[in-house]
Amino acid sequence: MLEDEQLEVMEQREAVGVDVDHSRGVLAAAEKELAEITERRDTALTDIDAAEAGRRRDREQVVGTVPADVLAVYERRRGTGGVGAAPLVQRRCQACRLELDRTAITELRTAARTRWCTARSAAPSGADEGVGSVKGAR
Ligand SMILES: [Zn+2]
Repeated sequence: MLEDEQLEVMEQREAVGVDVDHSRGVLAAAEKELAEITERRDTALTDIDAAEAGRRRDREQVVGTVPADVLAVYERRRGTGGVGAAPLVQRRCQACRLELDRTAITELRTAARTRWCTARSAAPSGADEGVGSVKGAR
């Protein structure tokens, strides 16, 4: 009787040992996968940081060429979470995708500087007309 109980306990112990071995294998595989994913994430973050640094350098160069008043308006618009500036290509605003009519295009052509497209976001206070270069507008 005691032998039967001992055998049963030994079998249970063996089964638990198999479960533990299996679990250790699953854990090791998960830890390996985690390490690989972490490495890919770190590489991606490094790439993002490098790209961001490049964008900042590009921005600094452009900022130096933009008149202060235009830059101030741009920053206000951008600060609202909207697009600060977008090109106007073939009469179409590349931010809101709306096409300007002939009157608006004519106004842009005669303006000394760029103007705002007010389709998506309200022009900043004090700027009833916006700025924008007219490239390819006809
Ligand atoms: Zn627009």
